Amino acid sequence: MKNRFIKKEYKTIEAMAGLYCRGLHGTDKKQLCADCEELLAYVKARLDKCPYQEQKPTCAKCPIHCYKPAMREKVRSVMRYAGPRMLKHHPLLAIRHLLHGRREAPPPRKG
Ligand code: SF4
Ligand SMILES: [Zn+2]
Repeated sequence: MKNRFIKKEYKTIEAMAGLYCRGLHGTDKKQLCADCEELLAYVKARLDKCPYQEQKPTCAKCPIHCYKPAMREKVRSVMRYAGPRMLKHHPLLAIRHLLHGRREAPPPRKG
């Protein structure tokens, strides 16, 4: 993970996956089930390859949509569940995520 922005982005989805997995898959704090671990590894790989990097919009607003459909659906489920719970459990990440949602996608970087 090269830059701070992408690292924070990862931290946010990691926190969301934690809430989701504990809430719906019954895992203990600081643990994820194999399915959610796989999803997070996939997200990390996508973020590392994201052509926008520090200019990244939210993936929901991205014109590229680099996720494969099944993973995109899984991330959507995580967001749907964890989004409304983030303010209580991770207020700073939640506010950052809300502000980030207002950002439009710039043209992707070349090369
Ligand atoms: S969907 Fe778009 S913004 Fe999200 S990681 Fe892929 S290229 Fe980057
Ligand atoms: Zn899980």
